[in-house]
Amino acid sequence: MSKNVNIDWSKLGFSYMKTDLRYVSKWKDGQWDEGELVEDNHLTISESSTALHYGQQCFEGLKAYRTSESAIQLFRPDENAKRMQDSCRRVMMPEVSVEKFIDACIQVVKANEAYVPPYGTGATLYLRPFVIGVGDNIGVKPAPEYIFCVFCLPVGPYFKGGMAPVNFTISEYDRAAPYGTGAAKVGGNYAGSLYPHELAVKKGFADCIYLDPMTHTKIEEVGAANFFGITKDDKFITPKSPSILPSITKYSLMYLAKEYLGMEVEERDVLVNNLDEFKEAGACGTAAVITPIGGIEYKDNLHVFYSEAEVGPVTKKLYNTLYGIQFGDVEAPEGWIVKVK
Ligand SMILES: *Cc1c(COP(=O)(O)O)cnc(C)c1O
Repeated sequence: MSKNVNIDWSKLGFSYMKTDLRYVSKWKDGQWDEGELVEDNHLTISESSTALHYGQQCFEGLKAYRTSESAIQLFRPDENAKRMQDSCRRVMMPEVSVEKFIDACIQVVKANEAYVPPYGTGATLYLRPFVIGVGDNIGVKPAPEYIFCVFCLPVGPYFKGGMAPVNFTISEYDRAAPYGTGAAKVGGNYAGSLYPHELAVKKGFADCIYLDPMTHTKIEEVGAANFFGITKDDKFITPKSPSILPSITKYSLMYLAKEYLGMEVEERDVLVNNLDEFKEAGACGTAAVITPIGGIEYKDNLHVFYSEAEVGPVTKKLYNTLYGIQFGDVEAPEGWIVKVK
C-alpha cells in the first residue's frame, strides 16, 4: 500500500467520501468505449438527460473485503453484474457485459486500495456501479447516450456495538406496482420510498415493511432489504413475488441455510396475519448482511419474534456463516469469491 489515508476506521458510518479514482465508460453509436479511471467526481451531462427527467437509470451495490492475510476480495460480483443487466433491460438501457462490470470493479478497488479498511474492523469498501441515460433528448424515449460509472467509499460495519434487533412498521404505501419495476434496481423505486420511510422513523421504527401491492396481505420488502423468517421447525422462509428486488444476500443465505446448516428453504407467500409461524425473522442485504427483526407493528399491535433485545440463534448462525465467507474466514462455495489481490 503506497499511499496512507488518515481515516479512523472505527468511526466510519455510511456517508459519502470522495476517494481517489472512479471508473467511467460511455456508450454512443451502439457501443461502450474502453472506459477509464478519472479523478473528477463530477459528471457533466445534458440538461435533457433521460436519467434526470424520466428516471432512466439503475444502480448496484457491493463490497470489497479485506481478509486476515490482507488480501482483498469481492463477493459474487457476477451476480451484481447480471442483476444490473436485468435492470438495464427493464428500462431500455444498453447492458454492460459481466466481464466489463467485474473489470471496472477490480480497477476501482485497486486504484483506491488505501481506502480498503483493515481486516478486523468490520468496515469494507462499498462499490456503487450505475448506468444513466444521457444526451440531448426531450420526448419520453430511451436516451441517445449512456454512462456507466463505478465509484467507491469506505463504510463502517452496520452494527457498531454488535448485531441488535430493530422494530419495523407495516406501511400503507407501496414501493412498486404488481408488475412494475420492483424487481429492478432503478432509482424511481427509492424516490417513492423516502416518504414512507420518513413516516416510519417519525413513529419510532427503523424503517417500514411493504406488503404486496395487489392484495396488501403478504410481506414483500423490509425497507430496501429482503425479508426472511425461521419457522418453529427450522425452515428458512422468504417471500416470492415479481415485485421484490432479488437480493443476492437472500439467495446466498438460502444456499447456506440448505448446504451449510442443513435447513429446509422455501420461497413462498408470507402472510402478515400469520407471523406466529416464525420464531425468528430478519432483513437481509449487502449493507447489514442481516438485520434481526425484533418486532413488526401492524394495525397498532407489535408482533415480537425472538426478542426485542437479543438475536435468535439461527439468525446468528446464518450471519456468522455469510460474514465469515465474505471476509475469507469460512470456505466459500465455488465461484463466490473474486480475488482483487
Ligand atoms: C439492493 C436491494 C436489496 C438487497 O440486495 P442485495 O443484493 O442483497 O444487496 C433488497 N431490496 C431492495 C429494494 C434493494 O434495493
